[in-house]
Amino acid sequence: MINIVIFGPPGAGKGTQAIKLVDKYNLFHISTGDVFRKNMKEQTELGVLAQSYINKGELVPDEVTIKMLISEIESNTNVEGYIFDGFPRTTPQAEALDKILAERGTSINMCLALDVEEEELKERLRKRALDSGRADDANPEVIQNRIKVYLEETSPLKAYYANQDKFVKINGHGSIDDITARLFESIDSILA
Ligand code: ADP
Repeated sequence: MINIVIFGPPGAGKGTQAIKLVDKYNLFHISTGDVFRKNMKEQTELGVLAQSYINKGELVPDEVTIKMLISEIESNTNVEGYIFDGFPRTTPQAEALDKILAERGTSINMCLALDVEEEELKERLRKRALDSGRADDANPEVIQNRIKVYLEETSPLKAYYANQDKFVKINGHGSIDDITARLFESIDSILA
């Protein structure tokens, strides 16, 4: 099994690149943002709860997010590996993920971190807002808060994965294909 965390700030291109990795390495894609948005659209209990945090640029509480993640894994077990996109975003989430995978006799192989400058992130999110229909992309204050939350709560995970020798920084500037090529190269060298 190959299990990859695709990591980076909002707008770094995690979702776009995750899809490329899914095709090449036959992974099952778990995007917590996508699962939340599906629930928001269907106005499930989870969706209504998540919406109140997401529209402010806050994180959905760990307890709720971890429970959802476990249920995504449990309903998709016959797979060659997972790519986690948008999870973990806090230290308790990373610890929970390690535990869940260990219980299944597997573990994270690598955390691939897309490195993108703040100005470029804001520009990408502004552009994405034009066609994504995402309320959290349309409001500059919400974008600023998402970046702040990333810096405060999520970026400490770099050290978490570096301590396990699993952290790989990838230049996230350039064309989508250039970045995909960098990711493939890193993964292939780690798996070799
Ligand atoms: P982006 O990375 O572009 O901000 P995502 O689609 O990954 O977008 O996430 C959208 C929002 O969903 C986040 O801003 C956050 O509110 C919520 N969310 C997604 N994943 C998590 C998570 N692991 N923990 C808490 N909240 C999350």
